[in-house]
Amino acid sequence: MNIILLAPPAAGKGTQAELLDKKYHLNHISTGDLLRSAASREDDFGKKLKEIMASGALVSDEIVLELLEKHLEQSTNHNLLFDGFPRTIHQAELLDEMLEKKNDKINYVFLLDVEEDILKKRITGRRICKNCNSVYNVNIEALNPKQENTCDKCGEMLYQRGDDNEEAFKIRYQEYIEKTSPLINYYQDKQKLYRIDSNQQKEIIFDSICKIIENNKQLF
Ligand SMILES: [Zn+2]
Repeated sequence: MNIILLAPPAAGKGTQAELLDKKYHLNHISTGDLLRSAASREDDFGKKLKEIMASGALVSDEIVLELLEKHLEQSTNHNLLFDGFPRTIHQAELLDEMLEKKNDKINYVFLLDVEEDILKKRITGRRICKNCNSVYNVNIEALNPKQENTCDKCGEMLYQRGDDNEEAFKIRYQEYIEKTSPLINYYQDKQKLYRIDSNQQKEIIFDSICKIIENNKQLF
């Protein structure tokens, strides 16, 4: 069973990935982690990668796929969960090709659907405790701290992360619309896309995802 989570920024992708991982014991693939771990190795490939990343340039899709392929050859868990990858049509095509070579394929693409103004509210309202890292949201009633700007758990001051502002959100959202949202049609054409209304509590979202998996299990 191979799953892709597709979502705009702040749609709750990380939370759903964690819940899915816990329930189905998936091989949770983060290409960012794979890159960092390869770049920390002292071989030629690691050194070259470190140079590219340090220069701020993007690592090519082909290199990412090569890393991914190596990683899959070494892992024993073949139930994959992709979270944050693929981000472009080109990456999706390369991923399909690679899986096909292994007689494997993507089974589910879950699109966490949230409206833009709700995402913006989530991001700009996010506050984090300096001391215990608890996360609050001043724009969402259920996640409000009881006393403004103070952590309910430890009493320490809350702060706003530098990139949790409207400007940064606009840039990230625009990038999602331009590069990632074409994947919605790509996977829809392959009849793999499941749209999940994600303007809801995380437990309800997770429940919708699990129902789809349970209902389709016999197909795969
Ligand atoms: Zn705290």
